[in-house]
Amino acid sequence: MSRGTTLEVRPAALAANAREARRRAGGARVYAMVKANAYGHGMALAAAAFAPHVDGFGVAVLDEARALRALGVSVPVMLLEGPFDAAELAEASDLTLELVIHSLWQVDLLEAAPQPVTVWLKLDTGMHRVGLPLAEADAALARLQILPGVQVAGLMTHFACADEPRDHLTASQLAHLTRIAAQHQLPWTAANSAALCRYPDTHGALVRPGIMLYGGSPLGGTPAADVGLSVTQRLSARLIAVNSIPRGDSVGYGASWVAERDSRIGVVAIGYGDGYPRHAPAGTPVAVGGQRTGLAGRVSMDMLTIDLTDLPQVQVGDNVELWGDTLPVDEVAKACGTISYELFCQITARVARRVENG
Ligand SMILES: *Cc1c(COP(=O)(O)O)cnc(C)c1O
Repeated sequence: MSRGTTLEVRPAALAANAREARRRAGGARVYAMVKANAYGHGMALAAAAFAPHVDGFGVAVLDEARALRALGVSVPVMLLEGPFDAAELAEASDLTLELVIHSLWQVDLLEAAPQPVTVWLKLDTGMHRVGLPLAEADAALARLQILPGVQVAGLMTHFACADEPRDHLTASQLAHLTRIAAQHQLPWTAANSAALCRYPDTHGALVRPGIMLYGGSPLGGTPAADVGLSVTQRLSARLIAVNSIPRGDSVGYGASWVAERDSRIGVVAIGYGDGYPRHAPAGTPVAVGGQRTGLAGRVSMDMLTIDLTDLPQVQVGDNVELWGDTLPVDEVAKACGTISYELFCQITARVARRVENG
């Protein structure tokens, strides 16, 4: 019996989600965000699945862009954090990337050694992470537009709250961006998955979906299935032991979980060494044979324990789903106080990957 800890990745579901993004985008171009190894799904596999349905890709760092070009991707690739230094700028130009310029020091880099590049100037419209302050936009644009070889594709911003049920910020962020874009008659891009799904007026020239392509819900509180998204990955592991625990005994590190009744406790071959979150509390849902139960006791490096008292038919060797079809990743994320993005990105190399065709 092999360990059986497996991440199943589904190219057909990735493609279906890209089609859904395309459908919702209307006339806007669609760049699929494939940073962080395509949110943990595998860059090569995801890019191939998305390619027929999108106009380009987005990555965070140059290594990721280089990997995409090495795969033979010839469509536009947007470098979301732009170049970090002159050497990166030169390579980005060689790779014909679209560079996001978010700070004046990057304008300085371009002035010091102008390269033939396409740039998107990123403005801080209210998220206050990166992007130029609005008051600096005109001067920075003027500096960029006179540089030889530099093509300004448009303006960009990123929303802080487009996924929040109560969202007071997106409308004002959009108003700032569109006002400056209109003044300069430039195209603009703003929408992540949440805005793409929720606010058609944010689509602009180009949308930048990420999480929705991977089947995570882009809208807090709305299940992904209700947004028309397919499940792109299933994380599962095998049950390697089942123990009878008398009422009053504890399970696992710290003896933090105490049986309130005579219990059957299953041991599953996955832990934080595989990327399952260690901080998942007791009760975090898992599924066995299509039925739900929950964690009992702390997650260890290589194992975790689940309560099987009400699932007497479950046996050693059975497959346990940590997230996937029975258990939406968003529910697990919520139980762990995090988001699907983080769960996807944390799976380690120790987990076997299986590509499911069809
Ligand atoms: C990651 C990223 C996105 C995609 O966001 P999702 O919430 O995953 O859709 C869009 N734009 C930028 C700048 C990003 O960094």
